[in-house]
Amino acid sequence: MTPTETAKGLAERYEAFQAMKLKLDMTRGKPANEQLDLAQGLFEAVTSHDFKAKDGTDTRNYGGLEGLPEARALFAEIFGVKPSEVLIGGASSLTLMFDTLLRAHVFGVPGGTGPWSAAPVKWLCPAPGYDRHFAITQHLGYELITVPMTGAGPDMDVVERLVAEDASIKGIWIVPKYSNPTGESVSADSVRRLAAMKTAAPDFRIIWDDAYSVHHLGDAHDEVPNLLDACQSAGTPNRVLIFGSTSKISHAGAGLAAMAANEANIAWTKVHASKQTIGPDKVNQLRHVRYFKDLAGIHAHMAKHAAILKPKFDAVLRVLEEELGAGIASWTRPNGGYFVSLDTPPGHAKNVVRLAAEAGVKLTEAGATFPYGKDPSDRNIRLAPSCPSLLEIETATRVVATCVKLSIAQH
Ligand code: PLP
Repeated sequence: MTPTETAKGLAERYEAFQAMKLKLDMTRGKPANEQLDLAQGLFEAVTSHDFKAKDGTDTRNYGGLEGLPEARALFAEIFGVKPSEVLIGGASSLTLMFDTLLRAHVFGVPGGTGPWSAAPVKWLCPAPGYDRHFAITQHLGYELITVPMTGAGPDMDVVERLVAEDASIKGIWIVPKYSNPTGESVSADSVRRLAAMKTAAPDFRIIWDDAYSVHHLGDAHDEVPNLLDACQSAGTPNRVLIFGSTSKISHAGAGLAAMAANEANIAWTKVHASKQTIGPDKVNQLRHVRYFKDLAGIHAHMAKHAAILKPKFDAVLRVLEEELGAGIASWTRPNGGYFVSLDTPPGHAKNVVRLAAEAGVKLTEAGATFPYGKDPSDRNIRLAPSCPSLLEIETATRVVATCVKLSIAQH
């Protein structure tokens, strides 16, 4: 609350929003329809006369477990690895991550001593983080350990200490660039430390979810050094498993998902994947490669996404500044990704999300960005501005900011 705003005035403003009978949704980071329209050309990229890959492979038939060579080459460019270090999966990176951890749980991983399920497992969860990551490791029965985020990735002092002393810690979730929800990127120093750190578990894995690697909002681009290179130099080549997809490049849930890792991990993945499937959808792979061509094509396409998304992020940041700029709350100003992360004073996030819902603005549940859905300070709120229209975003953010001030005024 600024000096000129009274609790009564805020309550009246809130009631005025309620009277508008709004129905706004800032819950999930979904692309807007106009973003999906950008890739309509995909539907024409493979025709009934032209469905063969460069090497003559008939994409309509079974086979090609690791993906078409041209699709592997495209993701190799995106991830900065060799094509032989890439495996193209189905259409969802989350599925690939789930399958990978399930395989580790049941069968163990290269360099390990057996199935992870043989003993209790703990997992590092940098938070605020992605709720669906935490849900996977919780679902497997792993104990989730919160690691603070620093603004440049997870707190490496905490990570190094924990992994060195406890062999039951088998891995960590990391979104290296434009993290969900804080938008921060892992620093070069942290990449080096992640590759070099001593882990008590010989089969420790970093799940490097590069979901937003090309998802810049403007001219300022975050750069994150290649962790697979760093691990190979540090003598820990098995440590990292990289994931990504075109869900927020082409069509969400109908794009391509890929994994990258050293050849031992890729070979291990193929052993298990070959029991699960005869091969992925290569028609979709061909469609994507023909449409985007190469990394330059992807970057040109992502600039069109940015032109749609940037004004929405700018609107969120402008309204937050206008309403809460006087030190009432803090928030992130990301160079890319899909979220703005808002921190209220401690103890208000749940109440703000409830107040906003009662004024017709749906937000991601408070706590969702922490393991077990519990934010120990009850302060973090994830704002997802991609899907609603610009006008809706402005109104929704105004409602949220009013709710923050009202909650503070009421308590
Ligand atoms: N990883 C992160 C960090 C995400 O934010 C999301 C979606 O919001 C996903 C993965 C989902 O990816 P996919 O659609 O490839 O399963």
